[in-house]
Amino acid sequence: MVGPPLQVGDNVVLERQHLQQLLDVLTKRGYRIVGPTVRDRAIILDELGSVADLPAGWTDEQDGGTYRLKKRADEALFGYVVGPHSWKKFLLQPQMRLWQARRVGSTFEVLAGSEETPRFAFIGVRSCDLHAIATQDKVFVAGEYADPSYRSRRENILVVAVNCGQAGGTCFCVSMKTGPKVTFGFDLALTEVLDVDGHYFLVEVGTELGAEVLREVSHREAREEEKAAAESVIARCSGQMGRSLDTTEIKELLYRNYEHPRWDDVAGRCLTCGNCAMVCPTCFCTTVEDFTDLSGERAERRRRMDVCFTMDFSYIHGGSIRSSAMARYRQWMTHKLATWIDQFGVSGCVGCGRCITWCPVAIDITEETRAIRESELNRREVI
Ligand code: SF4
Ligand code: SF4
Repeated sequence: MVGPPLQVGDNVVLERQHLQQLLDVLTKRGYRIVGPTVRDRAIILDELGSVADLPAGWTDEQDGGTYRLKKRADEALFGYVVGPHSWKKFLLQPQMRLWQARRVGSTFEVLAGSEETPRFAFIGVRSCDLHAIATQDKVFVAGEYADPSYRSRRENILVVAVNCGQAGGTCFCVSMKTGPKVTFGFDLALTEVLDVDGHYFLVEVGTELGAEVLREVSHREAREEEKAAAESVIARCSGQMGRSLDTTEIKELLYRNYEHPRWDDVAGRCLTCGNCAMVCPTCFCTTVEDFTDLSGERAERRRRMDVCFTMDFSYIHGGSIRSSAMARYRQWMTHKLATWIDQFGVSGCVGCGRCITWCPVAIDITEETRAIRESELNRREVI
């Protein structure tokens, strides 16, 4: 059943009916399979028991403040774009205990942690999300102070990526040069093709580990027309972006416009709910909280996800330094598109569109940037 020897860079065909074998091989190797599944009328990420848990025949409609699932005319398994969840929920635990201690006489001892690192196989990671993971890597493992929990989870993942076959109404990965074709960070990359020849995946082998896994799964050599069909799926998607963002000197543009009236305009609409930061695959803010039991014998420090839209987040002695909605939205957007570049050398935005879709009042990062850019151009024309 197994085809010729596989190497990194090879392209082979995996028939739809053999995808379950891939999941079985990964499970046998000790991976917990996580991927897209339908829950609460959205496509979210969670543990998968089998291929039957994937959203077969579903697609999504997205626009500013709008998300809706719809049935497709075919049985595509990956015929939708990214949903409200991102992979950060598996790599950067939403809540975790950092340490705990117990009283010993007049002093205390710190108790050893016991978290076992899960080994996740991520199924269906899109190119924008691979860029987002690489961005979070810069925060949590590339610097002088690595985060041990993130690092151990990150080192143990296996990535089965999927090239997008259609773009959503809020996608703009082409503008951010982060998609739709996956170019790095995967063990295997699938392109789903449904045509007169059937339903199959063109698989690109990204690593030796990916090759090793695929050797245990039925596959066959890809014909030239099958490779071309997969390429045209991705090319079609590139032309469908629902949004675009002009990134020309975007950092300088925003730095020049800290006092632009558009920030007040957006503050009049922003609810400071923090949804945009929660769904963003690169946002990484956390806070810590200390707890003691009632007897005073045990204490622990926990870390949990946080967002920069709360007053508390910028509280320093005496008060919050970002007390207005204007200051908080401006901070978030300029961090994503400008200060992040100074901090980490890349944009904090990968163009996934989640913050636009999941903003309850449809505030759109591409539209806000465009308004500021256009007002500058208009000002120049008047002068
Ligand atoms: S921009 Fe939208 S999602 Fe973000 S805090 Fe404001 S209202 Fe909430
Ligand atoms: S800022 Fe918005 S579009 Fe950009 S990566 Fe975050 S959620 Fe996606």
